[in-house]
Amino acid sequence: MSHKYVYLFSEGNADMRALLGGKGANLAEMTNLGLPVPFGFTVSTEACTRYYQDKQTIAPEIVEQIEAALAITEKSAGKKFGDPANPFLVSVRSGARASMPGMMDTILNLGLNDETVVGLTKLTNNERFAFDSYRRFIQMFSDVVMEVEKAKFDEIFEDVKHSNNCKLDTELNAEQLKDVVSRYKALYRKEKGSEFPQDPRVQMMEAIKAVFRSWDNPRAIVYRRKNDIPSDWGTAVNVQSMVFGNMGNDCGTGVAFTRNPSTGEKKLYGEFLMNAQGEDVVAGIRTPSTIDELKSTQPEVYRQFAATAEKLEQHYRDMQDMEFTIERGRLFMLQTRNGKRTAAAALQIAVDLVSEGMISKEEALMKIDPRSLDALLHPTFEPKALKSAKAVACGLPASPGAACGRAYFTAQDAIEAAGRGEKVILVRLETSPEDIEGMYSSEGILTARGGMTSHAAVVARGMGTCCVAGCSEAAISERDKTLKFACGKSYKEGDWLSLDGSTGNVYGEALPTAEAQVSGNFATIMQWADEVRTLHVRTNADTPHDAEVAAKFGAEGIGLCRTEHMFFDESRIPAMREMIVSKDEASRRRALGKLLPMQRGDFKGIYKAMGGRPVTIRFLDPPLHEFLPTEEADIRALAQEMGLTYEDLLHTVENLHEFNPMLGHRGCRLAVTYPEIAEMQTRAVIEAAIETRQETGFEVVPEIMIPLVGEAKELEFVKNVVDETAKTVMQERGVEIPYLVGTMIEVPRAALTADKIAEHAQFFSFGTNDLSQMTFGFSRDDAGKFLDEYYKKKIFESDPFARLDQEGVGKLVKMAVELGKSVRPNIKLGICGEHGGDPSSIEFCHNVGLNYVSCSPFRVPIARLAAAQAKIAEKK
Ligand code: PEP
Ligand code: MG
Repeated sequence: MSHKYVYLFSEGNADMRALLGGKGANLAEMTNLGLPVPFGFTVSTEACTRYYQDKQTIAPEIVEQIEAALAITEKSAGKKFGDPANPFLVSVRSGARASMPGMMDTILNLGLNDETVVGLTKLTNNERFAFDSYRRFIQMFSDVVMEVEKAKFDEIFEDVKHSNNCKLDTELNAEQLKDVVSRYKALYRKEKGSEFPQDPRVQMMEAIKAVFRSWDNPRAIVYRRKNDIPSDWGTAVNVQSMVFGNMGNDCGTGVAFTRNPSTGEKKLYGEFLMNAQGEDVVAGIRTPSTIDELKSTQPEVYRQFAATAEKLEQHYRDMQDMEFTIERGRLFMLQTRNGKRTAAAALQIAVDLVSEGMISKEEALMKIDPRSLDALLHPTFEPKALKSAKAVACGLPASPGAACGRAYFTAQDAIEAAGRGEKVILVRLETSPEDIEGMYSSEGILTARGGMTSHAAVVARGMGTCCVAGCSEAAISERDKTLKFACGKSYKEGDWLSLDGSTGNVYGEALPTAEAQVSGNFATIMQWADEVRTLHVRTNADTPHDAEVAAKFGAEGIGLCRTEHMFFDESRIPAMREMIVSKDEASRRRALGKLLPMQRGDFKGIYKAMGGRPVTIRFLDPPLHEFLPTEEADIRALAQEMGLTYEDLLHTVENLHEFNPMLGHRGCRLAVTYPEIAEMQTRAVIEAAIETRQETGFEVVPEIMIPLVGEAKELEFVKNVVDETAKTVMQERGVEIPYLVGTMIEVPRAALTADKIAEHAQFFSFGTNDLSQMTFGFSRDDAGKFLDEYYKKKIFESDPFARLDQEGVGKLVKMAVELGKSVRPNIKLGICGEHGGDPSSIEFCHNVGLNYVSCSPFRVPIARLAAAQAKIAEKK
């Protein structure tokens, strides 16, 4: 028997998600639970992978299996595909293993043609319904399968509505819809040079292929990269008997959640539209009714739906997102899945499910996507500014948070503006999957159309991006790039707007934002995470302020203080530059003398903010191109300050120019050349620690970290300078304090010779930014320019500077851990590259036995949760 590629719903279950996709697996599960699910079958994800292996064709054996499943489905419906007397119609829908909202496309009413539409009319005695279904099918099929632009059909539809004085689609009668159908077919003929396909079997196979193709469209590729979904998973295809929500006023279609996806409140939440089909609810063509209204209009259907929702939530032990259709007063379930939710709702639901006894704390922790916490930690508007600001309009509070930026009206403009470093508010009539990248580039999204389950709302919530949707007071012209509110105020491209995604308010000005407050459920979840995890979480912080923020988020210490970053400030950079351009030791010492008190002061602030927790101070590592003056005015000012001529200094700056500054005179190479730099820094570290100990009683044990070491003797040399200076300072002050000296492992040679290096290092911290840069040989500053091509050509699935390359760079990390421990079993191990805040990389760090990860302050909670999840996953 050949391999099985096609499964009837009755043959699957929820555990077969990898094979049947989320939608297929859950349709099967609901079928097994005895819920009213229209009969159908799933073409597996393996068939999708095979489709690509077979050069985008469906193998005959798979076609055979599809035919066989179709025959059984026809039989159960008592109808036949293409039978004019009793036509069988299906929906064709995609369904990957992980839900990919808006990525894949749905086709309804497949099987209709010029003959079966007449049959459907006779059978239902409802010509209006039959032609409404046909016009929808022609549009969906042409758009999704044949790539005829949807907007061209919309134009015809709007035109017919307009010339018949109709506002809503439901006002069109059968004759008018027939007119729509013939104009649609003419459009198809014109665009494709052939008639609209009439054979239902051809329609079905083409639709299945289109779903497979859509797995690889550019939108899907971007979505997968952002969400860590491997490209070899493929998508399944679900073929299902049609039920109709557009047969009349006792019919309808809707979407609902068992709990509120914005707040987590335990209450059925959703929207439906009577006499409607498929995407109508989410596309915002009419204003939907709330699910509560169903209670009064169709109490029996409501009761049945509420009971089904409850049953599904109990069964899946999680909040469900369901799609349903009512056909002539009968309820059908078309989909259920664990619902997407805001971060706030995710915490509320997790905490509630534990207190309701439905799940354990560990299960609750596993339900929360650590990356989603970001949204909770993002700023809100400064209360004072908000109080005095007046909203110019109000839409739906579709995705919480506060956003402020300049208005851009197309995804492309948004991407370009963000690329220039601008903050962007994307303003659209409604969004579609084509807008995804633009949405990612934006601080906030404003749409004029659509409800709480519209594309903009669902996708923005998933991204954790602030969104105000369905702002009907906004008249938007995407062509003219203008926005006019009902209050009379108008705005053009580049004007400032502020959005409050929690209230739906829109402000026509730039409002200052305030830091997020962490409390309540957040604290509960963090506490549960802390109880479980064994990996410590530190932060990368360069200033006392960052250290304070990070401490509030639960940082257990500082894993990286980039001391050169303490001099980015305009008032401080001259002293740093002076040090860099000094030509002799005396002038360098003079400049260092200016830096010393600044550093000492900052270190004290940081030690105090950390209250005695460990603080790792990384010695100067300034890639020269980031620090050398380039502007003439800066060079002149510095020359004056140093008592040099402009030409003289310019000459020095030119001499210092490097071709590869990232591989240049930076890190410990500076301290090797100019030991006085390490002397000054050691003095600042130790003096600050002594003073902080005296002033606060905190037992500060500074950890001095030497960067860019690739050879044990480099470290040995700098460590000697550190130890000598520390000894002198302690003698001067008459106290002895403990301190550690360690190194970063960020040059591949350091990883390869970590045993030798460990002889001189009390700790290792993996600098995976440089380690990735040097392992791949990709410049950190330039890789962005070509990595896009790597994603498109599937050479890379993710950015190696964001997500640790476990196969290559990870191998070096593992090797260094083992070599380091072989010489110094108790060596302290951490990571301080950007990867320290990335959940999948954190899991790797846990598994290779690091003691801590260190990440930027706002990622600390993400790391705490990810570390807990790594521990829980390890136990399984
Ligand atoms: C690193 O290279 O990973 C690191 C943390 O140092 P920097 O980013 O400052 O080079
Ligand atoms: Mg580095």
